[in-house]
Amino acid sequence: MSRQKAGALVSVQVQLQSGQQYCYSTEGTFMTNYVHSRRAFLATGTTTLSALQAWPAIAATEVAEPPAVTVLNPQLRVPLSFVVDDSTCLVNMGHFCMPQFATAWPERNEYKKPWQTWPREIPDSFVREFGQWCAQHGVKGKYSIVPFPACVGWVDRELPGWSQKQLQASLKLVRELMVPNWDIHPEMITHTRVIDIKTGRPMQDINPATMENSYPRTKKSVDEMAVYLAYALRILKNCGLPCEGVTTPGGFGNLVKNELPLAVHEAVRDVSGSELPHYFKYVVNGTESALPRLEHVRNVDGSDPKVTVNVPACTGDWFGGWDGDRQSEPDRYANEEGTSGRMVELIKRGEPAVMLCHWPGMYTQGTKKGFTAFKRVVETLNSRFSDQTIWMKLSEIGRYWTAKELTRIILVDRKVSFNAPFGTPNFTVRVPGTAATTNAPTLTVENRTVKLQPVTQTRLLRSGTWHADSKGLIVCFDLPKGVSLIQW
Ligand SMILES: [Zn+2]
Repeated sequence: MSRQKAGALVSVQVQLQSGQQYCYSTEGTFMTNYVHSRRAFLATGTTTLSALQAWPAIAATEVAEPPAVTVLNPQLRVPLSFVVDDSTCLVNMGHFCMPQFATAWPERNEYKKPWQTWPREIPDSFVREFGQWCAQHGVKGKYSIVPFPACVGWVDRELPGWSQKQLQASLKLVRELMVPNWDIHPEMITHTRVIDIKTGRPMQDINPATMENSYPRTKKSVDEMAVYLAYALRILKNCGLPCEGVTTPGGFGNLVKNELPLAVHEAVRDVSGSELPHYFKYVVNGTESALPRLEHVRNVDGSDPKVTVNVPACTGDWFGGWDGDRQSEPDRYANEEGTSGRMVELIKRGEPAVMLCHWPGMYTQGTKKGFTAFKRVVETLNSRFSDQTIWMKLSEIGRYWTAKELTRIILVDRKVSFNAPFGTPNFTVRVPGTAATTNAPTLTVENRTVKLQPVTQTRLLRSGTWHADSKGLIVCFDLPKGVSLIQW
């Protein structure tokens, strides 16, 4: 069960008395999930506890026994992911953004750096080098394409400073090399100036209110936000780039945190038709949960369930920084031995370990020192934890946790039925039983039954297999949307 882990502050089991199924924290975040056949919740954390106590017709009691069916991590592995912010085609955002930020925030010293001396381009040869190395090492994550980067040009039309041929080659490279392993997100429209979407021109006044990093400065409706997001998404769609989510630049949306996930849902569904929109905005620190948050969960039992998944990162940018002028500190992610660092801490905790960087920091103004440091971290993680981890896109992590939290699971004797509003690959559950007394589990979907294959070690678990240990059976299968059945 996802929230049952070391370090949890409070653990309560909550019996549902009214058929009421969902509970939201004070921030509107979906906090709980089904755990077993008695249609009960298990929730942890003081915020959640108080929210649950406030919920009508729910009574909290001490945990008496472990849940009969537990949803585990995919293939029993901790998800790893890499978030790349501020990437786009060719344009070095470090070089082009800084003078615009300096105009909007003249008092800030951080925008008085010598941007004129920084390369204006992050070349496609580097995208190729990075993308190929990541593909060889299994790395997956999120890669931004800012659609109108720092107002330099529109990636679906013209990028002044580069030929049409170069722009098209750059987009082709992203489509062919990056898309298979990376979610592509717009990072709003420009990452600098707010665009008047009626004219396509930046707002006339230049101040924090007309910069995307601090937009909006007044309350906006869900529809107003959705129209802005959809504008960005449509440019990438014109380039043949599929998007199931967005990344917010800096403090974008801070004033509309409740409206934002609804706007993301509306915009992503409108432009791409994807059933499960997600977004990246937040970074979690310390002991704060690193699990994806399911927001504005609606109509879960209907034919069109709606959720927006908020997938946080869990580290700072300790590579080359926003401008590519920082000294990399790879040990803060994982030291060479793999015994300390934030990523090691999260892997040990069993929660998704999502690390963060900015694209100019990978390129590091041509020295690629950030990329070198990143490679060292990945090599450490892959050698020390390869049997315990799995690289995933943000959308894949979001999907897995959505299925984990929203699937209704009912255990009767040696049968478990799953009713899933959203399916996911590699769904992994523990069910009661032992190897000695049980038959091989089977999976039934729509009258078709297949026998699952035994594996001798948990590290061999993949979809369509099972393994027995002292605590029961672990079954791994592709959970379909709708109804499925495991029996043994
Ligand atoms: Zn950014």
